[in-house]
Amino acid sequence: MSERFDCVIVGAGPSGIAAAYKLASSGLSVAVFERGETPGSKNMSGGVLYSTVLNKLIPEFWKEAPVERHVTRRRYSLLSKDSAASFDLEFEPFNTPPYNNSFTVLRARFDRWFAKKAEEAGAVVVTEAVVDDFIYEDGKVNGVSVRMEGGAVYSDVVICAEGANSLLAEKSGLKKRPDPGSMVLGVKEIISLPKEVIEGRFSLEDGQGAALEFFGEALGGVAGSGFIYTNKDTLSVGIGCPVSVLKEKGLKPNELMDGFKKHPSVRRLLRGGNIEEYSAHMIPEGGYNTLPELTKDGLILVGDSAGFVNPSICKEGSNLAMASGVYAAETVIEAKNRGDFSKSVLDGYTERLKESFVLKDLKKYRDVPGILHSAPGIFKEYPDAILEFLQGYFKISEESKDSARREIKKLFRSKVPVWRLMVDLLRLRRFFT
Ligand SMILES: Cc1cc2nc3c(=O)[nH]c(=O)nc-3n(C[C@H](O)[C@H](O)[C@H](O)COP(=O)(O)OP(=O)(O)OC[C@H]3O[C@@H](n4cnc5c(N)ncnc54)[C@H](O)[C@@H]3O)c2cc1C
Repeated sequence: MSERFDCVIVGAGPSGIAAAYKLASSGLSVAVFERGETPGSKNMSGGVLYSTVLNKLIPEFWKEAPVERHVTRRRYSLLSKDSAASFDLEFEPFNTPPYNNSFTVLRARFDRWFAKKAEEAGAVVVTEAVVDDFIYEDGKVNGVSVRMEGGAVYSDVVICAEGANSLLAEKSGLKKRPDPGSMVLGVKEIISLPKEVIEGRFSLEDGQGAALEFFGEALGGVAGSGFIYTNKDTLSVGIGCPVSVLKEKGLKPNELMDGFKKHPSVRRLLRGGNIEEYSAHMIPEGGYNTLPELTKDGLILVGDSAGFVNPSICKEGSNLAMASGVYAAETVIEAKNRGDFSKSVLDGYTERLKESFVLKDLKKYRDVPGILHSAPGIFKEYPDAILEFLQGYFKISEESKDSARREIKKLFRSKVPVWRLMVDLLRLRRFFT
């Protein structure tokens, strides 16, 4: 391929395809190179697609996109070894368009559909094409070198949308090798169950979906969490654990996953299901404090390659990825009009991000990753103590209520010093507010 494009994009995930769709719809020539056999074949996500940006690009996309279910129910559970306390939320207004912009999806299907839409808008999407490096001319990125015949492809600007394993961004000097503490390893299984079983077990009606998050002993008391998201006739079941914790404690992700699936309140939900797929993928959860420089002459970083994952309770990545793709495309259109692809013009991308929810939210939750690492009690001691307290509170016995409750309060205080609980709760409020 020896053509020249206005823009080349590396990676056909949500960030790359959002950029390609916007650029192609605006009449620019754009090529996307994707190393997978098809867009989505190398991708994995727990499964809730947040779609505010997508709904602006393709209004009412859910009428044609392969979405699984819209999320009307959320449940947050705190686990000890054998017990659980849950906070269950159901919102009827989320049952009508635009469905709170939250849909469960299977990425292999969704990404393929989204890439097709970009092709229909005029983008060229080339699969089984690994980009090995950027091509430089006088210090400016001027194209990419693709592992295929005639592999040099030239363009005015390159958008790097390669995802969490950001080898090219690191090679370009924009990004340092991420610290293991800022990377979470996600492991996911797709488990099939009949549609009616899923709807009965998760208390859903046709089309409705549930997103369940599990904290505490979900991973045997180490930092991280577990999840179950409902698809039409499958469940996305997974865990996420910081790479630093896996290394320090010598833990194997598959064993953590098995432990999660065996917990009584998880096991019951998966009963009778068959494992259809297993995958593992990194999530950049370092947040605002670990963001790299986002541009250089002829180059822009978007999505996970830039580290745009919000570590708050909703764990948003897909919408930040698409938003950054659209802002990168708008900046490229401006650069094209000015005939200038230097860093000073491409920095308009960073300005757009600063004005948007992407950098505002990342900044708001900037301390969350550090807090989660510095308060390990929240994954073991607190859940154990809280569930022991609740179990004691609801226990039926012939001891007087006053005496029994005095005892369990004493027991709780002996396990969790009140001052430390208050300090950690104050710090943790950032996670929820
Ligand atoms: C376990 C797990 C659960 C998650 N849950 C959620 C969730 O519920 N909700 C949510 O919003 N987000 C979630 N995320 C995060 C979300 O998946 C990402 O934020 C999002 O996919 C980022 O999109 P992206 O386009 O930047 O990168 P990706 O989706 O990773 O796409 C990058 C693409 O680039 C390709 N590529 C990489 N290198 C090259 C190369 N050299 N040459 C050619 N192609 C290349 C890859 O094959 C891939 O297709 C989750 C992630 C994981 C791992």
